[in-house]
Amino acid sequence: MKAIINGKCILPDETGDFKVREGLVLLYDQKIRHILEKEEFTSGSYAVDKTIDAAGCYVSPGFLNVHIHGCVGADTMDDDPEAIHKMQLFQAETGVTSFLPTTMTYDFKTLDRAFSHVREAMKRQDGARVLGCHMEGPFISPAKKGAQAEKNIVPADFTKIAPYQDIVKIITIAPEELHDNGHFIAQCHKHQIVVSLGHTAADYDTARKAIETYGAKHITHLFNAMTGLHQRRPGVVGAALDTDANCELIVDNVHIHPAVQRIVCRLKKNHLILITDSLRACGLGDGPSELGGQQVFVKGTLATLADGTIAGSVLCMNDGLRIFRENTNAPIEEVITTVTKTPAMELHLYDDLGSLSVGKKADITIFDDTFHIQRTIVEGRDAYLKK
Ligand SMILES: [Zn+2]
Repeated sequence: MKAIINGKCILPDETGDFKVREGLVLLYDQKIRHILEKEEFTSGSYAVDKTIDAAGCYVSPGFLNVHIHGCVGADTMDDDPEAIHKMQLFQAETGVTSFLPTTMTYDFKTLDRAFSHVREAMKRQDGARVLGCHMEGPFISPAKKGAQAEKNIVPADFTKIAPYQDIVKIITIAPEELHDNGHFIAQCHKHQIVVSLGHTAADYDTARKAIETYGAKHITHLFNAMTGLHQRRPGVVGAALDTDANCELIVDNVHIHPAVQRIVCRLKKNHLILITDSLRACGLGDGPSELGGQQVFVKGTLATLADGTIAGSVLCMNDGLRIFRENTNAPIEEVITTVTKTPAMELHLYDDLGSLSVGKKADITIFDDTFHIQRTIVEGRDAYLKK
């Protein structure tokens, strides 16, 4: 077993909410085996073969990233088995222990190829774990396509995704395009696929019905590529904020103004999921890049298509957490919950990961007060270690 000492541990209290606790020792192998008071640890006889000194840093459950297209030159859609592997390694550098490589709106022949690379990556134990994928399109609205390719948008058809139900964990759809009395969403539920509303021109009533009546419980990058909040037409944003749907937020200050981050933080608490939605350009600096066959230009934190449309982000998860905390002044426990407990519960994985609890997988991220990652541990192995 290994022991982590001198950390500020972010742990669930008796109510299940996260609290920071100091003076604890965490013992793990592939799983978390003991969480002890320091005195209990020094007086006991635990077979520890390595002690890690967290030196006052936070010891947190590993982060989940449920919406990421690519990073360091690699993209989920690349016909290259190494692409997702590169993403696994880089995600670990940003404190992420599990993620959902996210597909774009393509034809099903190309998607099939991407899914087979995801399926292979799910078996790979190197860097961060691949849990499956988030399918962003092709069942979306041309009116809110954003950076998705319109020619590949098609009507929703569950038989098209049935062969991939072992891989697809979240699917983004436009509810106004369904016209099936909730049948498609029900089929997804039956196979434990989370349905997310996104790239949608739906009105409030249609979106609310999809959430409350049919059970869509996730919103893809809230505010971006959907009908906004108007006082007489509350739109998808209104439905998202007026229900318990879990809302993704890209917290790079490009997609979402700091004031809007604060508003959502107040309203959503345990139903907020921070994501990166990053492109292959993430981690590479300024210059030309590519997304879904279209050219992208990156300058600083802004990535745009030729016509100026925002094309996703170049955000890293640990930077997003820092930006969100700076903007909202939310307690660290709340900020961390958005990338651990909330997504793990939604994906029916909270029995296994998403908190530092005895018996769960040893997915642990150690970071300092400015969210610089010191060490990322995935199922007991070091997936990243700061040099
Ligand atoms: Zn996306």
